[in-house]
Amino acid sequence: MKVLVINCGSSSLKFQLIDSESEQCLAKGLCERIGIEGSMITYTPDGGEKEKTVTPMPDHTEAIRLVLEALTNPKTGVVRSLDEIGAVGHRVVHGGEKFAQSVIIDEEVMAAVEECNDLAPLHNPANLIGINACRKLMPSTPMAGVFDTAFHQTMPEEAYMYGLPYAYYQKYKIRRYGFHGTSHSYVSRRAAEVLGKPYEDLKIIVCHLGNGASVSAVKNGKCVDTSMGLTPLEGLIMGTRSGDIDPAIIEFLAHKEGKSIDEIMTVLNKKSGVLGLSDNLSSDFRDLEDGYHRGDENAVRTMKTFSYHVAKYIGAYTAAMNGVDVICFTAGVGENAPLVRNFVCEYLGYLGVELDQEANRKRGEDIVITVPGCRTTVMVIPTNEELAIARETVRLVG
Ligand code: AMP
Repeated sequence: MKVLVINCGSSSLKFQLIDSESEQCLAKGLCERIGIEGSMITYTPDGGEKEKTVTPMPDHTEAIRLVLEALTNPKTGVVRSLDEIGAVGHRVVHGGEKFAQSVIIDEEVMAAVEECNDLAPLHNPANLIGINACRKLMPSTPMAGVFDTAFHQTMPEEAYMYGLPYAYYQKYKIRRYGFHGTSHSYVSRRAAEVLGKPYEDLKIIVCHLGNGASVSAVKNGKCVDTSMGLTPLEGLIMGTRSGDIDPAIIEFLAHKEGKSIDEIMTVLNKKSGVLGLSDNLSSDFRDLEDGYHRGDENAVRTMKTFSYHVAKYIGAYTAAMNGVDVICFTAGVGENAPLVRNFVCEYLGYLGVELDQEANRKRGEDIVITVPGCRTTVMVIPTNEELAIARETVRLVG
């Protein structure tokens, strides 16, 4: 079956068409600046040229219409007609406590996702708009919703509760949900597969280090803790998000800088993280690595602080699981920044970790980067959220 995977943001839309039998990506692309002047679609068929077209996209329906047009284009398309697309899998950011699994989308599901909008005001409404646009253009194609939060729903109460008045949990469902669940699930399973060990027997820590970053603890095939919280702002230092801070800093800064809560939240989400910590050098680890090698003090401080925080979470999750067998690095930074992996692993001597430096320099493959015989195995596993969404969709649609 050919599955269209859609990841819809407020002004962007990423897509991939995946053949579920061969698990090959047939075409992929991105719509940017939806609803904003200068919108464009980028489309790349497998083995073909990337094409970029600037064209008006007043809304998501038009964006999806253009995606479907590109996929069926007689010259560069990869399907003859839309009938060849057997199902659509949608990434949905927040499923609250309602969705511990992926689901087939129907009216009831749409209403339940809408109820989670408060928990993810930037993401869920955009996801819903994308689903609605798809349903309008492909009314008889089955659609699945795959939630970023679902994999983490197995966390025990002691991991997901905050030390806040319990009434806030009862009234507003304030608790840890966690995100990047599709990636944490895919990578932890894949690690077990590559090692040839039963997933259900392993204690795995996944470090998803991308522009957004999170760590999870997966014990016997179930997530038992993760670093992102009610929102994706908690946990590790990220590209532009602060991660964990003393909550009192918010009031302190608001007074000192004369800013509103909304303005401070913008600072924490958009101007902090490695971008802020490096005094605006960059949010991109390629620049930070270059800076580190030049001896730039902003880059050195940032690389070291970022890595230290990852190592602290690994320590915490080793404690949460009473041990760890496998540590996985994934996502843009985790897969491509050997220096970060080195810095993090320097803290892991107590787990018997010793890196194989040659393996650590490799890219783009599932690989063990510790020397043979280490008590704890460290791996790089490239994530593939689109493939995981396609697999879930096929499992549901049958
Ligand atoms: P993601 O959110 O998983 O797409 O990750 C994006 C981030 O990965 C970028 O902002 C960079 O910081 C980082 N990244 C991507 N490629 C490289 C690379 N070759 N070396 C170091 N960092 C990289």
